[in-house]
Amino acid sequence: MYEKVKPPEEGKKIEYRDGKLVVPDNPIIPYFEGDGIGKDVVPAAIRVLDAAASKFGKEIVWFKLYAGEDAYKIYGNYLPEDTLNAIREYRVALKGPLTTPVGGGFRSLNVTIRQTLDLYANVRPIYYLKGIPSPIKHPEKVDMIIFRENTEDVYAGIEWQKGSYEALKIIKFLKDEFDVSIREDSGIGIKPISEFATKRLVRLAILYALENNRESVTLVHKGNIMKYTEGAFRDWGYEVARDEFGDVTITEDELWNNYDGRIPKGKIVIKDRIADNMFQQILTRTDEYDVLALPNLNGDYLSDAAAALIGGLGIAPGSNIGDGMGVFEPIHGSAPKYAGKNKVNPTAEILTGALMFEYLGWKECSEMIKRAVEMTVQQGIVTYDIHRHVGGNLVGTKEFANAVIENLNSL
Ligand code: NAP
Repeated sequence: MYEKVKPPEEGKKIEYRDGKLVVPDNPIIPYFEGDGIGKDVVPAAIRVLDAAASKFGKEIVWFKLYAGEDAYKIYGNYLPEDTLNAIREYRVALKGPLTTPVGGGFRSLNVTIRQTLDLYANVRPIYYLKGIPSPIKHPEKVDMIIFRENTEDVYAGIEWQKGSYEALKIIKFLKDEFDVSIREDSGIGIKPISEFATKRLVRLAILYALENNRESVTLVHKGNIMKYTEGAFRDWGYEVARDEFGDVTITEDELWNNYDGRIPKGKIVIKDRIADNMFQQILTRTDEYDVLALPNLNGDYLSDAAAALIGGLGIAPGSNIGDGMGVFEPIHGSAPKYAGKNKVNPTAEILTGALMFEYLGWKECSEMIKRAVEMTVQQGIVTYDIHRHVGGNLVGTKEFANAVIENLNSL
């Protein structure tokens, strides 16, 4: 089944039965380092994850795969079938960042992975660890989790260059059929947002809120301007809440009209906000937001802005989730200028691993990793990105991971 990699002989496969993952104590987990600083942060994170797992009698059997430059050298292809097949077979994978050249017909490998495996939700928790510098006064109030739709919207890559046959044909079609005028020298992008994709995303967000005792799910959209895409996202979101979770969800109107603004036990409030307003609200009324569900492009912007509240790209973890499948990756890219320098912060990749453990159902282990990272930063042991704001004992990627492991072992 595999051309150039060999699955490990030890370890067991994670299964997916009756809509739930069945995770053995020694799961086989595929991973790849990816490009640039992936070579620094992924090995560091793996050491931390191994140390944490072993404290709970678990062992991850890692299955090394290739994507990006490494894969090109071995396969002559940046994203080999071996890599996609292994993720399909083993269901949960850890990845490092992949470089995407700007322009010039090179599709983002990250987008390709998400689309090929139908990982339809980009899920990013945004929580604060004490000691990390933040631009807001009360970062401890930040505790959100963002569900961003991953397969649709303008970002999905349905677009044509200015002057191309397709762009000109679409411009002519719109003029002839609908009397809509578009300048001939326009590039064209298509923004599809479907009921199906919206509902499965919002469903996942509500299920997460229920399973994790969250108080609200906020649908963030630009429906005042884009009524039939972003506006429909909001409407379908409310529909799925009402039709499938009617006994456990209430709207904001119901909250104020029937419950005097106090959320009744066991209920989740479904709200919606216009995206531009939401950018202000995550700064000014942070603690009112909990689980957020967004279409792709708004979700991209908002999740990076939210990450800045809790320390930025070196800190923020992420994941791409489908039905019974998850690929875990930090939100940062390959930062090529720092590649191989043992300099960057491995926290984002480490916390990405913690998020993966949560997905596996290893919640206590995941919490312990977060505590160990927090302890390390509070001891003043920091990489350059944190050091430039608060000073402290400046260390490299490997040394930071060593300190986290020491703290883990002390817990
Ligand atoms: P980036 O790689 O995230 O780096 C931007 C800046 O963020 C760095 O210069 C650095 O800031 C800071 N940073 C990122 N990771 C850090 C870490 N672990 N520790 C400390 N600081 C960190 O973004 P980019 O330069 O825009 O993108 C580079 C390449 O990565 C592009 O090809 C892009 O397409 C790709 N990318 C991939 C993914 C992915 O694989 N999921 C995601 C985003 C981007 P300072 O220089 O200010 O210290």
